[in-house]
Formats: sequence, structure tokens, C-alpha cells
Amino acid sequence: MADRVKKTDDEWKKILTPEEYRILRHKGTEKPFTGDLLVNKNKGVYVCAGCGNELFPSDTKFDSGSGWPSFYAPIADKNLERKTDRGLFMERTEVLCEKCGGHLGHVFDDGPKTTGFRYCINSAALHFREVDQKKKRKR
Ligand code: FE
Repeated sequence: MADRVKKTDDEWKKILTPEEYRILRHKGTEKPFTGDLLVNKNKGVYVCAGCGNELFPSDTKFDSGSGWPSFYAPIADKNLERKTDRGLFMERTEVLCEKCGGHLGHVFDDGPKTTGFRYCINSAALHFREVDQKKKRKR
């Protein structure tokens, strides 16, 4: 993977907020119902807070009631990496950013009928790009 983002721990610390660093680089979890992007309903793209990799389109976001931003599908499967996580006495599927290896959250199979998946993602692992801003940048 030629375009993989590789940084040292110190480099990540410098560019991320303490909360982003804790979640993305040390598999942390934010407290439910605290994330800035939980109630965001604007149209745009959710990107990795670590490297800007495009992860979830706003139209796959739904209110799961879990307290974390939830999506039923990523922009592209290849933008994510999935790993079996056997921590906390249960088996879950961890979701990571394919580009920088940052921890995003987990995916569960109790999502809406559209795909059946529920990507449960920490708000602090994401940045939001509104549609209009994206167009401006491309000009
Ligand atoms: Fe990333």
C-alpha cells in the first residue's frame, strides 16, 4: 500500500488532540452521547481525523440510539480495515482506517435492513467535510 500514512507516536501526538490521539492511536472509546458529530445531520463526508481518508457518506448515517455516530455503509469497503477484537470478554469486529491504521470503532450486524451493518464510530475519530466545502476545494 504505497499511500499508507506512517508516523511515529510523537508525530501523532503533535497533530492530534489528546482525545483524538487516545482513540485513534490507543483504541480508546469516547463516552457515549458526548461526540460533536453525533447529532450532525448536514450533507457531506466523514473523513478520518488522523489522515483525511474518506470513510462514511452522510447519507448512510442513522440514529442508532447508542450514543455514537452510526453508519450503515462506508464510502468504500477498501477504505476500512476490519480486525477481530477479543477484548472485554466478547468478540467484536474492530474498524480501522485503512490508510493510517487509526482505530475508529466497531461494526455490528444489527444495523438497518439496507445493509444490516451498524458501524459504531467514535466522533473524535472523524472530521466532517460539508458538501459545499468539498466542491470549493475541487475548483
Ligand atoms: Fe486515517
